[in-house]
Amino acid sequence: MRWLDSDRLLVATHNKGKLEEIAAMLAPLGIGCVGAAEMGLVEPAETETTFVGNARIKAHAAAKATGLPALADDSGIEVDALGGAPGVYTADWAETPNGRDFVQAMTRTWTALEAASAPYPRRARFRSTLVLAWPDGRDQVFEGKVEGQVVWPMRGAQGHGYDPMFQPEGHDITFAEMDPALKNRISHRADAFRKFITALGGTI
Ligand code: IMP
Repeated sequence: MRWLDSDRLLVATHNKGKLEEIAAMLAPLGIGCVGAAEMGLVEPAETETTFVGNARIKAHAAAKATGLPALADDSGIEVDALGGAPGVYTADWAETPNGRDFVQAMTRTWTALEAASAPYPRRARFRSTLVLAWPDGRDQVFEGKVEGQVVWPMRGAQGHGYDPMFQPEGHDITFAEMDPALKNRISHRADAFRKFITALGGTI
């Protein structure tokens, strides 16, 4: 690969679930992944108000710290009846004094929908924005999404984050009930990765 001087790509995330999904998507291309934690990188504060802004912060911080090209994903779930919340604050909704608690975050999401007497189906989408940053400051952006609805109660034990309450369009199971290989074909991250791989196709 022209832009990589090894067969491993630095992925600027401390999120184990995300890293596993990204590794599974890059493996067929013969590209391995190394995560930010493995490289001893600190997690930068995500101070922007957009997915692309926060993905840029993470990707550029990792590229600058290591001198390597770095890929970051910023993602989240947008619930229509909540005006797009939690959106860019999806991970923040899970924060507790003892770390992230996604059962609490999903309960908060459903409680807000109940309080608003939101009609069914309670439409939502996951978005993923990938930024590939180079140490010289250049970057490329790839955006993906998957449409669906949020459901209750939570169902399934696969995946991570909000997977147990998200049912993608055209399916009657949640992401957390789905074979991870299928999720990795239809997810927001898969959509963004298809664009990433197509754009870099000539150089991979
Ligand atoms: P980020 O690290 O700021 O991008 O946080 C994104 C948050 O969105 C994660 O912590 C998850 O809660 C949620 N999220 C993103 N992608 C997924 C997914 O594929 N399944 C479930 N939750 C996700």
